[in-house]
Parts: sequence; structure tokens; C-alpha cells
Amino acid sequence: MIYHRPQSIDEALALKSSLGQRARFIAGGTDLVVGIRKGRTTVDSFVDLSRVPGLAGLTRAGDTLRIGAACTHAQLEREGITALAQACETVGGPQIRNMGTLGGQVGTASPAGDVSVALIALDAVVELASVRGTRSMPLADFFVGPGRTSLEPDEMVLSVTVPTNRKSVFYKIGKRDAVAISVVVAAASVSPSGDVAVGLGCVAPVPFRPRKSEQMLRGHPLTSERIDAAAAMAASEVSPISDHRGGATYRRAMVETLTRRLLRTLADTPYEGLLSVAMSHS
Ligand SMILES: Cc1cc2nc3c(=O)[nH]c(=O)nc-3n(C[C@H](O)[C@H](O)[C@H](O)COP(=O)(O)OP(=O)(O)OC[C@H]3O[C@@H](n4cnc5c(N)ncnc54)[C@H](O)[C@@H]3O)c2cc1C
Repeated sequence: MIYHRPQSIDEALALKSSLGQRARFIAGGTDLVVGIRKGRTTVDSFVDLSRVPGLAGLTRAGDTLRIGAACTHAQLEREGITALAQACETVGGPQIRNMGTLGGQVGTASPAGDVSVALIALDAVVELASVRGTRSMPLADFFVGPGRTSLEPDEMVLSVTVPTNRKSVFYKIGKRDAVAISVVVAAASVSPSGDVAVGLGCVAPVPFRPRKSEQMLRGHPLTSERIDAAAAMAASEVSPISDHRGGATYRRAMVETLTRRLLRTLADTPYEGLLSVAMSHS
């Protein structure tokens, strides 16, 4: 295997363009190296993004935060966006959070990606780049299947942009409190104008937004009755499977429970209170 360490974003893109599909970007390596060791992934060459200048920056502009793809989970824990910080706090242990990046998280496209679920619940937009230029799309549309994204073979994730003015909250159910892959994970946010976005993980082939449920909430106050109806609708929209971590019936039931709980939290908690909302993982 050949290892490249580009010194700029342009050099990284040029390398990927010339090396083709078997060249893989590597950032923290916390997913990719595991995949190689398990024989799931074959790589001819690595293009290391972990030290490319300008790729790990955080930029605030108006009511948005632009997060460079090489930002680590540890960095994002400190940025004060509640659901994102809460999601990042639950990723692996401290070592994984210091190595694992946002670009790697969305590049892996796991239906159980905790940070991806928080990001889609924040209505995040992903920016992709190649030697041909850049393009952006809602992050929820970027995921197309388990481990599959809208990335072209020569494209990289450049950044993800999230609003900073939404109330948000995140909740994860795992087998234990730390270093646990989620059994069900959910996040929700509400904009100042009252638009609600919900993200769900481990209950569909991709990190999933229950659009019918969101539609039921659009333009209405978050009353108890409406929250209950939206939570039931969310449970009807998911397509969970049974595996060694949890059964499909349990997962569907937890979608309803977590959606209801998150929406009630959003309805009841003032903006400044959200950072201290307790999380439980069991
Ligand atoms: C012990 C352990 C515990 C974990 N716990 C959790 C957990 O609790 N929750 C959770 O969600 N995840 C967890 N993970 C998974 C992992 O840490 C995250 O998904 C992490 O964000 C991956 O980032 P990375 O930089 O290490 O990615 P890498 O392994 O470097 O890359 C992953 C994939 O993304 C691609 N990629 C990387 N950067 C880019 C880019 N900029 N553009 C395009 N493609 C790119 C790579 O080519 C590769 O396909 C855990 C992993 C381990 C090993």
C-alpha cells in the first residue's frame, strides 16, 4: 500500500482524481483501518487528510457553523451545539474522539453513526469537492445506503454546515454507557420559526429523517397530543432489522419513545437549559 500525505486540499483532490477508486482518503482511520483489518476493505493507496491545512477549521458566520471535514469529535464536543456535542460525547472513548473526524463519520455512512444522526436532525448541509469544483446538498440526501454515499470516486467531503440558532437534543440507547454501538439513536431540533427536524439511527438503511412525522409538526405548536401523534408516525416510517444488538420490534417501539421524549424536551426546555439535558444509554 502506498501512503500519500498531501500538503493542500488541491493536492489531495488531484491525487484522488489520478489514483482512482482503490485510493482511499484516510483521516482518523478509526473506521477504515478496522475495515482493512477485518478484510472488508481493500486499499491500494491512502491519501491522508489528517494534516491538510484548512480542512480542520471551524468558521462561524451569522447563524451557521461551518465544520471542516477533518474536525474531530473531541473538537465538536466543545462547540455548544447541543445535539452535536451530545452525540460527539458518546462516540467511542477519548482516544477515538481525538482521532475520529466528521468527514470520516459521514464518509463511512453507517446507519448507526451517532454524529450523522445529530447532523441530519440539525438540517445540516454537506459540501463536496473534486478537481471539477464543489457542490452542496442536504446531508440527509448524501446517504444512499449502508456504507454508500453520493460521493463520486474523485470527490471528498470538504465541510458540513449546521445552524447555530436551533434548539436541539440527542439521545442514544446502547448496550452500555461507553464504547457502545447504538441500538437506537435519535436527535431532534427546532428552528426559531418552529420547523422541527428529527434524525433516527439504526432503524433504516441510512441515518433517517421521518418526513411525514416532521410534516405533522410543521407550523404547529409542540402540544402533547401533536407530539404523541408525530412520535407514532415516526415509528411507522422506519424499517428496522433484528440483529445481535436488538430486535426490530424493540427498535420500532424505541423510535416512538425517543421521538416523544426528544420533542417534549424541546417543547419544555429553554435554549440555555439544553446543554445540561441528561443522557442515558441503557
Ligand atoms: C472503538 C471504536 C468505537 C467507536 N464508537 C463509535 C460510536 O460510539 N459512535 C459512532 O458513531 N462511531 C463510532 N466509531 C466509528 C468512528 O470512530 C467514526 O465513524 C469516526 O467518525 C470515523 O472518522 P475517521 O476520521 O476515523 O474516519 P476514517 O476511518 O479515516 O475514514 C472512514 C471512511 O470515510 C472516508 N473519509 C474520511 N474522510 C473523508 C473525507 N473528508 N471525504 C470523503 N471521505 C472521507 C474514508 O475513505 C473511509 O471510507 C467507533 C470506532 C471505533 C474503532
